[in-house]
Amino acid sequence: NNGLEDSEDIGREKSANTRVTHNIVFVTSEAAPYSKTGGLGDVCGSLPIALAARGHRVMVVSPRYINGTPADKKFANAVDLDCLIKVYCFGGVQEVGFFHEYRDGVDWVFVDHPSYRRPGNPYGDMHGAFGDNQFRFTLLCHAACEAPLVLPLGGFTYGEKCLFLVNDWHASLVPVLLAAKYRPYGVYKDARSILVIHNLSHQGVEPATTYMNLGLPPEWYGAVEWVFPTWARAHALDTGQAVNLLKGAVVTADRLLTVSQGYSWEITTAEGGYGLNGLLSSRRSVLNGITNGIDVAEWDPSSDEHIACRFSAENLNGKAQCKIALQKEVGLPVRPDCPLIGFIGRLDYQKGIDLIRSSIPEIMEDEVQFVMLGSGDPQFEDWMRATESAYKDKFRGWVGFNVPISHKITAGCDILLMPSRFEPCGLNQLYAMRYGTVPVVHDTGGLRDTVENFNPFAQEGHGEGTGWTFSPLTKESMLAALGNAILTYREHKSSWEGLMKRGMQRDYTWENAAIQYEQVFEWAFLDPP
Ligand code: ADP
Repeated sequence: NNGLEDSEDIGREKSANTRVTHNIVFVTSEAAPYSKTGGLGDVCGSLPIALAARGHRVMVVSPRYINGTPADKKFANAVDLDCLIKVYCFGGVQEVGFFHEYRDGVDWVFVDHPSYRRPGNPYGDMHGAFGDNQFRFTLLCHAACEAPLVLPLGGFTYGEKCLFLVNDWHASLVPVLLAAKYRPYGVYKDARSILVIHNLSHQGVEPATTYMNLGLPPEWYGAVEWVFPTWARAHALDTGQAVNLLKGAVVTADRLLTVSQGYSWEITTAEGGYGLNGLLSSRRSVLNGITNGIDVAEWDPSSDEHIACRFSAENLNGKAQCKIALQKEVGLPVRPDCPLIGFIGRLDYQKGIDLIRSSIPEIMEDEVQFVMLGSGDPQFEDWMRATESAYKDKFRGWVGFNVPISHKITAGCDILLMPSRFEPCGLNQLYAMRYGTVPVVHDTGGLRDTVENFNPFAQEGHGEGTGWTFSPLTKESMLAALGNAILTYREHKSSWEGLMKRGMQRDYTWENAAIQYEQVFEWAFLDPP
């Protein structure tokens, strides 16, 4: 009773006194507010708190990134636990420390090592990805395996019977280490691990020769071995052999989860599986999808500190003020009735920026305004700057990572455009709906699961929709959906208000998602590891 087809079973609430609680250890490369480059940070900053609120003991292990900017202050309340451990990997021994902050019922544990103390974001700097990321995240995984055994948090260690939630490739060595390094010596026999896949396109792939650096016994090579000719060609390797850390977790974790049900199916297909679809299909019976929640305290239009005027589904007046404030802030003409389209996200091929780029001449022919916020691929950053010069009264491209501006765009726009090529869950469409901003999205992954296509002929309360979903991913179909949204905004005010209100009333609380996670925890403990 645990296959994909049974996912509807997830979420049957148990009463508080029959609920089993666990010692849960999140392992992640980012956790907001300490570190965040995308949705992974949001999830690992919020889900632990929701689980702790439901009675679990929860620890989050992530690196203590110190990059010499004001963001370092985020770690100010974390105290040094004075606990140094030795990690044997990469042909030597590394000394690793731990910092700790107890906040919102969660033990936030930060792994300290010189390789996390450098300018840039968690993965790279202006010159690109750091060359030693395999080393940095191997250290994280070794440290995370030791943390429940050695850290007396609040006076007691978490102990061996814990549940590891390992997120994406950066944490994927954890289940392999449990199986290869600990269980043969009788340690962690009763622990379980769940791999949560937020984005399958990053797998931690490096040449096979790096295997000996990982601190695993030689006989475990098969767990991370990967033969994938396309990758090998791209990296000029003739053997086609590599180590793939995510694959290691796919084969050794007790259960697999993705951040939406739609994505849990997509990754089993050749198109969405990035070479791992066969393996993932073979583990389908332990693979589920749970849609992310959102931090409803941070993203609440009735209390948001970042926006010009608060509003709610009952009183939408403030949203018009937010639009005017946004137009002023970004230097667009103040035009309350002009459809204002927004985009927020990483400037990456995944997000379909190329489609927006090729469609901009057509979009700009109409009487609309467009605000984009994003950073990433330098060619898209340059394009945004150039487009701003070309369409001074209509287009703004804000290059950078700026949380307050992301709130202002979410609140001030009428429409949010998300033509993502693939989207494991997607958070911006959820934030947008909560702020009465109508999403126009590619019909894929979590976007398909969360945005209901507008149907003007539906009966009240039955599939009237919260936005537009388009498919296939072509310029024509995106422009058609966007055109329909703009037309509805201009000509059908009551339909538009209905779209806004239905989106604002959707329940995407983390508590809802946490209940579904608990069901998967239960399944993880049913079978022996
Ligand atoms: P992904 O994880 O693929 O980047 P998600 O939609 O799941 O995409 O999550 C992205 C998160 O990062 C959201 O919280 C979004 O608001 C935030 N974000 C992305 N780009 C920016 C930016 N340039 N400035 C501020 N926040 C951003």
